[in-house]
Amino acid sequence: MIAAEVVVVWSLPGGSSRRCTFAATCTIGRSPDSRILVPGAGVSRDHAVLELTPTGLTLRNVSASNVVLLTDRTLGPGDAAPMKPSDRFRVGPATLAVESIRRADAPTSAPTHLVCVKPDCRREVPTDRTDCPWCGTSMAFAQTSVGRG
Ligand SMILES: [Zn+2]
Repeated sequence: MIAAEVVVVWSLPGGSSRRCTFAATCTIGRSPDSRILVPGAGVSRDHAVLELTPTGLTLRNVSASNVVLLTDRTLGPGDAAPMKPSDRFRVGPATLAVESIRRADAPTSAPTHLVCVKPDCRREVPTDRTDCPWCGTSMAFAQTSVGRG
């Protein structure tokens, strides 16, 4: 099982680069609670949020009145954009870049077969059967088998 991890590199003017690593969400803003704390004019307390979901990484502008600058467009309040590794953006004076995105393993697929509970049968039975087609045992108490093999 691989855990999700996103690495963002960011810096303020004249400051050294810093790394922020997170698994699900990363808050950016002037609030001391922010994962990435950006002081300065034009920065909201809660300005932007990076969210890692099963479909990818999303950057959302959660401020009421300030913008987030992407390389090729501007995110107004309430706007969101998909992000990929090496994408860069600015929040007030801070420059941020997505260094890497590692998604968790895909969730295991839904079971397609059950295993018959009769000890001398133990065959795989499709999940849409209510009894075993080989021995007739009720499948109500069958063990779940994920996929084949
Ligand atoms: Zn059976």
